[in-house]
Amino acid sequence: MESRYAQIYLDYNATTPCDSRVAESMWPYFTEHFGNASSSHHPYGWLAKDALEEATGVIAAALGVQARELVFTSGSTESINSVLKGVFRKSGAERNHIITSKAEHKAVLDVCAYLETQGAKVTYLDVTPKGLIDMEQLEQTISENTLIVAVMLANNETGVIQELDQIAALCKTCGSLLFSDATQALGKIGLGNFFDLVDFACFSGHKLYGPKGIGLTYISEERKDVLDPFIHGGGQQSGWRGGTYNTPAIVGLAKAVRLAVDQQVEEGKRLGELRDQLEHGLLGIEETVINGSHVNRLPNTLNISFKYVDGEALLRALSTHMAVSNGSACNSASVNPSHVLKAMGLATDLAFSSLRFSLGRYTTPQDVEKVIDLVIREVSGQRASNILWERRSR
Ligand code: PLP
Repeated sequence: MESRYAQIYLDYNATTPCDSRVAESMWPYFTEHFGNASSSHHPYGWLAKDALEEATGVIAAALGVQARELVFTSGSTESINSVLKGVFRKSGAERNHIITSKAEHKAVLDVCAYLETQGAKVTYLDVTPKGLIDMEQLEQTISENTLIVAVMLANNETGVIQELDQIAALCKTCGSLLFSDATQALGKIGLGNFFDLVDFACFSGHKLYGPKGIGLTYISEERKDVLDPFIHGGGQQSGWRGGTYNTPAIVGLAKAVRLAVDQQVEEGKRLGELRDQLEHGLLGIEETVINGSHVNRLPNTLNISFKYVDGEALLRALSTHMAVSNGSACNSASVNPSHVLKAMGLATDLAFSSLRFSLGRYTTPQDVEKVIDLVIREVSGQRASNILWERRSR
């Protein structure tokens, strides 16, 4: 795919381009098939409704869930807000304890901070240096007052994948709900028994080569009674989220999910090989460390710290050649070190010297070779002008 910036794009965890096959599937629903799926008295509406039903069926089959367990939203942020605020509101005074981790996406952390102002007690679990939940702390803090545990499946900054089996078992023992943000996981790893473990989950179209502004909430059939509708009005989506259906986006999301799930094994292998090529090349640079588990990690993600280098300056210098990130793109205005790396215990200077490379569908071995060369050059250049590099004890 031609880029107007002639840059190598390695920021697929921030967003992905819409696959042309996805865009093509959507087009008719902007133009000739523009009907409102709720117009039940003419063929324009019937056609849109059929398309929606088909799309929902395709997604449900790809995920291995029931169509009625899916609610379309504008994306993961909305899904997270709807579920966490919704269960808290509905539980009343019954249970007011929420558990999450310090390495969650800001969408979860900010909602939890808000819920604290509404009377929730929130435990922010530590993570290990590998980025995994501190299970001992979870065991010690979860109780029969714990309403919900929110732990993401895969981290957007490090790619670290949490082992949800044990977390789900603890939730079951205490009668607590389990929400998992799977935004970064779908299409990158097989979801296995994920839906047997969680009560709620979220996904986002723009992370898997679908359109922006569309996402999904998974609500387990058995948990429908712990939530009220997200948006009242019109009764769409079985009453869960009123408002005219975004038919083109839903059709596009179905195509994107189908493609991502169908290609996941092969594409995961290809991306893993490319990521390893990149990792190997960059580890050739002295004083460089990988952040996060090597074993439990998305195949496309590499988070790496270059000691004695200012990550911000490195990012700026590289930005004429490539698109990479130094943390979550969603809070790139912030000058704080990544909260995820800090939660993993990285020293502030090391957290500031880190970059995230996230590879994707259009990444080639040639891109990776070029990126390795450019990063080696820039890191050497920056260290050459850093007095601390000269003085370091070897
Ligand atoms: N959760 C994770 C792990 C993410 O990576 C993102 C996006 O960066 C979000 C949630 C928010 O997703 P959306 O952009 O669909 O609101």
